[in-house]
Amino acid sequence: MVAVRPRSRARRRCGICGTRCPRFDAGAGRRRWRHLDAAGLKLYLEADAPRVTCKQHGVVVAAVPWARHDAGHTRDFDRQVAWMATECSKSATVKFHPAVGHSLSTPRGCDLAGAAAESRVA
Ligand SMILES: [Zn+2]
Repeated sequence: MVAVRPRSRARRRCGICGTRCPRFDAGAGRRRWRHLDAAGLKLYLEADAPRVTCKQHGVVVAAVPWARHDAGHTRDFDRQVAWMATECSKSATVKFHPAVGHSLSTPRGCDLAGAAAESRVA
């Protein structure tokens, strides 16, 4: 578990559109995101997840730079799963990332299409 926090200019942004917004409340408290393994161990990032009031989207959880809105995984994790889903066999992908599931369905909040597009840009 690694405690992290966004840089000041990345804080208090709408999780959907990224607009800077006033803080609403502390939300559900601290939250964890699954990150890439480190030294063979599962690694999670943990940070506060306050809510903000967006003029367009209402009260939403604030954005964090390391994960997409409403995702339980970091962008790096999503990119790795997307890469493996396109470059490796289904069984290898499921063995390496059991959270992906035997049907190779996406884990909650894992946007494979978005992650694949993002990995092509990076
Ligand atoms: Zn918004």
